Amino acid sequence: MPTYASQQFALEWRSLLDEFPSDTLDTVQRIAETHRTEMARFFYAHMLDNPTSSPFLTHDQVKTRLAASMERWILTVFSARSAEEIDAVIDLQKQVGEIHARIEVPVSLVLRGARQLKVSLALFIEQSSLSAEQSLACSRLSARLIDLAMELMSLAYSQSHDRNSRAEEAYRLFSVSHNLGAEKERQRGALLDWENQLMFALATGQGHDSLPLIATSEFGLWFRHKASHAFQGSPESTSILSYIEAIDAQLRDMTYLADQATTLGLLRKVREQTKSIKFLLDSLFEQANDLEAGRDALTRLLNRKFLPVVMSKEVLYSRQSGHTFAVLLLDVDYFKQINDNHGHDVGDQVLQHLAGLLTSNTRGGDYAFRHGGEEFLVLLVDINPTKAMQVAENLRHRIAAEPAKLSNQQSLNVTVSIGVAVHDGHPDYQRLLRRADEALYLAKSQGRNRCVLKES
Ligand code: GH3
Ligand code: MG
Ligand code: MG
Repeated sequence: MPTYASQQFALEWRSLLDEFPSDTLDTVQRIAETHRTEMARFFYAHMLDNPTSSPFLTHDQVKTRLAASMERWILTVFSARSAEEIDAVIDLQKQVGEIHARIEVPVSLVLRGARQLKVSLALFIEQSSLSAEQSLACSRLSARLIDLAMELMSLAYSQSHDRNSRAEEAYRLFSVSHNLGAEKERQRGALLDWENQLMFALATGQGHDSLPLIATSEFGLWFRHKASHAFQGSPESTSILSYIEAIDAQLRDMTYLADQATTLGLLRKVREQTKSIKFLLDSLFEQANDLEAGRDALTRLLNRKFLPVVMSKEVLYSRQSGHTFAVLLLDVDYFKQINDNHGHDVGDQVLQHLAGLLTSNTRGGDYAFRHGGEEFLVLLVDINPTKAMQVAENLRHRIAAEPAKLSNQQSLNVTVSIGVAVHDGHPDYQRLLRRADEALYLAKSQGRNRCVLKES
C-alpha cells in the first residue's frame, strides 16, 4: 500500500519529468549510463578522503557492494518514466534512507555525496556534444531529480530514526517515572475525583456547559500528554483515548432540559465507560512494570522493540574492540500443533519454559529477546562462529531434553530449530539478522530440531 507521502512524491516526480521535453531525460539517462562507473568511483574517492565517512565505507563488503548499488542507483533515478517505475524509484529511496538510519550515517554525509554526484554528472553533461540549450536542460533536470530523490531519502531517514528514538524514549519515560505504584494510585484517584464531580454536577442540575469533561480533568491531562505517549501503539492506550472522546461527546450533547430519565441513562453509560478505562489502565500499569525493564510481559525476556538499540550498540562495540558477536534465531518446531492440541494457555506455558531455559543457559553479558510469537533471539557477545555453534547446539539439546512442566501436572516435550549468524563487521545489523533468518529457514527445511550456521 503506497502511503500518502509516496503518492505525493510520485505526482511531483511525474510533473518534474513533464516540465522537460522527453528527449532531455533520454539524454541524461544515456550520459548517466555511459559514465556511471566513473561517477561511482569519483564519489567513493572523494568520500574516502573524508575522515567522517571512512568508518562507514571501509568495510570490504561495503566497498564492493556499495559501488555496484551506487551504479544501480544512478541508473534507476534517471530511467523512471512509467508510473510503476516511478513507484519503484520512490521505494528505492525509502529503502536507502532506512539503511542510512540503521547504520546511523550522518545526514550531512549523504548530502555531501549527492552534491558530489551532481558535480560529476554536470561535468559529463558539459563534455557531451550538446547544444547550449540542451546542455542546460539536462543539467537542470538531473540536478532536480537528484534533489527530489534526496528529499525522499531524508524523509525515510528521519521517520525511521524517529521510530527508533521513540522506542528508546518510551523506555526512558518509564524508567524515569521511578514510582509506578504511586502513579497508578494517584491516577486512579484522579479518575474517581472526576467521576464524583460529574455526578455532583448532574445531581445539582448543572447545564451542559459546566459539566466537567474527562479530557481536561487531572486524569485526562495526564493520560493524553504523558501516558498515551509512553504506551504509544498499545491497544489499551488507543481504547482509553477513544473512551475519553466518547464520554466527552456525550457530556457535550447533554442539554439543559434533559429529563431525569435521560440524565440517569447518561450517568449509567458514563459509569460503564469509566469502569472500562479503569480496567484498561490496570492492565497498562501491569505491562508497564515489565516495560520498565524493557521486558516482554509473557516471557520476561527483552522486548523486540529494543533490538535496534542493542544491535547498534553491539555493532559499535565490535567496531571499536574487534570482537565479534553472534545472533541465534530460535523458532519452536510445530508450535501451532501444541496450541491446537493442548490450547493456547499451554502454548503460553511452553513459551515461558523456553524463556527460562534461554536465560539460564546463556552468560550474563548475552541478551535474550522475544522476537515474535514463538520465536526468540539470543545475542551472544564476544564470540566466534565455532563457539556460537556450540552454544546453539547446547541450547537445542537442553530444550529437547527438558520437558515443559505444565500447570496441570503434565509435561510436554518440544524442540526448536536455530539459525546462527556471526557479525562480519558490516555496519548494517539488518544483514546479520537476515543471515540468521536464512539459516533458520535452512534448519526448518532440513527437518527441524537442528542448528544451521550461515557464513557471510
Ligand atoms: P514450524 O515448525 O514450521 O515453525 O511450525 P509452527 O507450527 O511452529 O509455525 P507457525 O508459524 O505456523 O505457527 C506459529 C504459531 O504460534 C501460530 C500462533 O498462533 C502461535 N503463537 C504466536 N504467538 C503466540 C503466543 O504468544 N502464545 C501462544 N500460545 N501461541 C502463539
Ligand atoms: Mg515462527
Ligand atoms: Mg514455529
